[in-house]
Formats: sequence, structure tokens, C-alpha cells
Amino acid sequence: MHELSLTEKILRLVLEQAGNHKAAKITRIKLVIGDLSGIIPACVEQYFGLIAAGTIAAGAKLEFQRSKAELYCPVCEESFEKRPADFNCPRCGSLAQLTESGRECFVESIEVD
Ligand SMILES: [Zn+2]
Repeated sequence: MHELSLTEKILRLVLEQAGNHKAAKITRIKLVIGDLSGIIPACVEQYFGLIAAGTIAAGAKLEFQRSKAELYCPVCEESFEKRPADFNCPRCGSLAQLTESGRECFVESIEVD
């Protein structure tokens, strides 16, 4: 469970951003979460509700956008969206490699008042 430390990072980041813009309230936070990151949005949401209480981010709506895992095939020299439990290239059947896509987790944007 690394959602708590992640949520703390998110909160620190958005408060800093809001501070830079002299915002009075954070209303919405858009997050990108990779399918391979192992992060559970519902946990992030729950922790956020707890730790954001009393800050200007309290009550902000969290929006999660999933990013798909991708495979790279060294034979075709192309990337493909990964299918569940399948590491083979959908075109030639060779064993493909996971790319960095799908492991990320970051704040894409925030909306403030
Ligand atoms: Zn291939």
C-alpha cells in the first residue's frame, strides 16, 4: 500500500501550485494513473479526503485518467497496447517488452477558484 505516501505527495504538489497562483480553493484535480502502477484510485480518494481536510484542497474532486500499458516488439519495431496476461506481439507473436507506458502516476492539472 503506497497510496498514502502518494496521496501526501499529490496534496503537497497541488497546495504548492495553488499557492503559486494565489488561489483560495482547489476545486478539481486531474490525475493520470497507469494500469501497471498498482495504484487504486479509490484508496487515493479516501486518503485525500482525510489528509486534505482543513486545507484549501478539502472537497476537491479527484478525476482519474487511466493510461494503458504498452508493449514494444523488437521484431516489428512498433508499440502496441498490452492485452491482459499477454506479452506477445499482436502482429508477429514474438515476445515483446513492456515500455514505460502504464507505470506513470502524476497530477495532470488542477482547477482552482
Ligand atoms: Zn512483432
